[in-house]
Amino acid sequence: MRLFLAILICKLSRAAIRLLGRGGTSLPGKLALRIHPHIIKVLSKGIDTVLITGTNGKTTTARMTEKMLNDAGKDCFANRSGANLEQGIAIEYIANANAFGRAKKKYAVIECDEAAFKKVCPETCPKAVLVTNIFRDQLDRFGEISETINSIKEGLKNSPHTVLCLNADCSLTSSLAIDRQGKTVFYGINEGGDSLPCVSDANHCIRCGAVYNYEYRTFAHLGSFSCPDCGYKRQSPDISVSKIEYLGRDSSEIIIKEGKNEFKAEIALPALYNIYNALAAMSAAYALGISAENAAKSLSGIKSSFGRMESFIIGESRIKMILVKNPAGCDRAIEYMSGSTEKFDAVICLNDAPSDGTDISWIWDCDFEGLFENESCSKIIVSGTRARDMRLRLKYAGGDESRMTIIDDDAELIKAVLALRNQVYIMPTYSAMLKLRGSLAELGGKKEYWK
Ligand SMILES: [Zn+2]
Repeated sequence: MRLFLAILICKLSRAAIRLLGRGGTSLPGKLALRIHPHIIKVLSKGIDTVLITGTNGKTTTARMTEKMLNDAGKDCFANRSGANLEQGIAIEYIANANAFGRAKKKYAVIECDEAAFKKVCPETCPKAVLVTNIFRDQLDRFGEISETINSIKEGLKNSPHTVLCLNADCSLTSSLAIDRQGKTVFYGINEGGDSLPCVSDANHCIRCGAVYNYEYRTFAHLGSFSCPDCGYKRQSPDISVSKIEYLGRDSSEIIIKEGKNEFKAEIALPALYNIYNALAAMSAAYALGISAENAAKSLSGIKSSFGRMESFIIGESRIKMILVKNPAGCDRAIEYMSGSTEKFDAVICLNDAPSDGTDISWIWDCDFEGLFENESCSKIIVSGTRARDMRLRLKYAGGDESRMTIIDDDAELIKAVLALRNQVYIMPTYSAMLKLRGSLAELGGKKEYWK
């Protein structure tokens, strides 16, 4: 009876909220959990769930995994809106159930917040858990890196049958396999750049504290690491990229190795971190019985997720939106922008709502200097509740004040963006992204993300 009531209340309140033209709220999930605190556990029974967590790349990896499963005939549902706390996840399991709790689809691809993981993982009894990477994130929400790792470990404790899919190149992530029984699928990239030490979140061995040696790095602390003292080192990956043949502005071509089998794949998204996302998704699909070669075929048809390298063409304006949340992700966005050979204008929207992280000190750890290394960046518009902090950061990074404008008003901001004639890159934090994306989607005739 409680189950029936929880499902009903959730479905009704969700329908009512949508009728009012609003989306993205987790209230129906909150109500359902209040009536039946273990509703996820009950409804996920019999469903093969892939649970995806990690600092960066969760949403894109989830979209890739979802496509691989669907293309392989494994019909799945997902928390596509990116609502990745317990309430948002509950809504998706309820939406997949009829009024009596019977499931419509047999597979689920669920993105889960790192801090919520310890609670959500035991509830969903996942078939596979995928951890994309661990970087320093919003300190006010996640605390130090060790807290994130402990939260994930805690969640995994009672899931010995879950296949763990881990980034072999991330010393923090792959440490989750230490002393763990059960199957692990490692993925990684077998080539990289210089081995010089750089600013990173993990220079020291997670087991003994010695400084790692690197054979090569791909970016930040990712690469072929080994500890000279205790012997902890990168695991040989089960699925790997043996060669990056082409890394372009919109796509990449890679050679993938799985056991003795090597094959080529095309990823219809730019940047090295999306190669990691593709490998991560392939590992999750592999854990569900899809060969890496078949999974890789889905990558050429992948589209960017909302706000993540998403393009908008509105009249003469060419806009690309790149969500930023933490230094590692922000540095990749800056790298992508400054790698442009044509002139571009940048829009940075820094908010400090709880979903963005109220502590914005992370902007001082980002390499905004990279924006001013060449002459490609023409104008910069700064907006958001912490626009003034952002402008100060840019000034220290070498930004010339005559090129920077602050715009506080949302409508004025959209007007100014549409008046820019170069390629425009918008870097918003999460809450700014939702708002801006809504306006641009409407102007560009796209759907709201939750529809
Ligand atoms: Zn060590």
